[in-house]
Amino acid sequence: MHFLLTGGAGFIGSHLTEQLLATGHSVVCIDNLDDYYSSDLKRSNIAPFHRHHLYTFIEGDIRNGILLESLLQKNSFDMVIHLAARAGVRPSVENPSLYVDVNVNGTLTLLEAMRQAQVTKIVMASSSSVYGNSSTIPFTEADACDRPLSAYAASKRAAELLAHTYYHLHGFDITCLRFFTVYGPRQRPEMAISQFTASISNGYPITLYGDGSTARDYTYVTDIVSGVLAAIKNLGGFNIYNIGGSAPVTLLSLIQHIEKGLGSKAVINWQPMQPGDVEQTYADLSLARKLLHYEPTISIEKGIEQYIIWFHQNNTLTML
Ligand code: NAD
Repeated sequence: MHFLLTGGAGFIGSHLTEQLLATGHSVVCIDNLDDYYSSDLKRSNIAPFHRHHLYTFIEGDIRNGILLESLLQKNSFDMVIHLAARAGVRPSVENPSLYVDVNVNGTLTLLEAMRQAQVTKIVMASSSSVYGNSSTIPFTEADACDRPLSAYAASKRAAELLAHTYYHLHGFDITCLRFFTVYGPRQRPEMAISQFTASISNGYPITLYGDGSTARDYTYVTDIVSGVLAAIKNLGGFNIYNIGGSAPVTLLSLIQHIEKGLGSKAVINWQPMQPGDVEQTYADLSLARKLLHYEPTISIEKGIEQYIIWFHQNNTLTML
């Protein structure tokens, strides 16, 4: 198949690209290498793909409708995979308008360009953050998701709602995938596992927000890629699926896994919970299991072990 992939230079996008190219698909990646974290890291994520004959990289912004429309008109894409976003919960508290601009207006610009070019199939990344502090645990897709706790969460939910209108009004086939805290090689450098691993390994203290009891449903990146591939295969109508590990881990337990993997103890700088953070995330996978045959395969022990192997090989690239 021939894919247009937005945000393909990022963490998840580079893993997905690897898999798509390895299985004979062609990928046109559009990414503006934004300043959320080092563009050098993103360039290094995609460096191996440039010599692949089925890969094209375009440095561009999803908010540029003219660029998107001409790309979509000139190519005959089978499907769009939309991962481009301003990621991260905490910075969205400080800069909400940028998050709305990229994640809502950017998504709308993409959907509209697709409509103009009559490309109507799209799989797009959403987030477990849309659940806020939902009282239904584990989180199920039937939840109203109308109490987001950050602009990031609200922007991802708004993008899902816009997607639904394109399904309803224009007959798009759209699947929104709610990813649950993704980790693995090339993870975004500001995320907890990257920060903790780099700090503990280099003998620096780590900052822990809250009392360590908050929990996240960590999902290894290859499981996320499997979820995206399953969604591509089963696209039809409008659907939302949780793609998680379905095994929440507390922050303190996560630190213990990293300490064990590195063979070093963490020095902890305790700080209060951050605004926008949720207490826990926990994916109910019933729907994804039933309709996508999705099943996470990498435990947190195995995933941290693999991440640390990668970290030791790439320590110089990881930012503190
Ligand atoms: P990432 O920041 O590594 O990748 C996002 C990519 O989008 C980056 O390469 C960035 O340069 C690009 N981008 C940002 N704004 C753009 C714009 N205006 N135009 C074109 N490209 C733009 O993040 P990631 O962790 O790989 O996340 C990928 C997707 O998955 C995002 O939609 C994110 O919201 C979602 N998600 C990620 C996680 C996670 O834990 N990593 C969890 C839930 C949802």
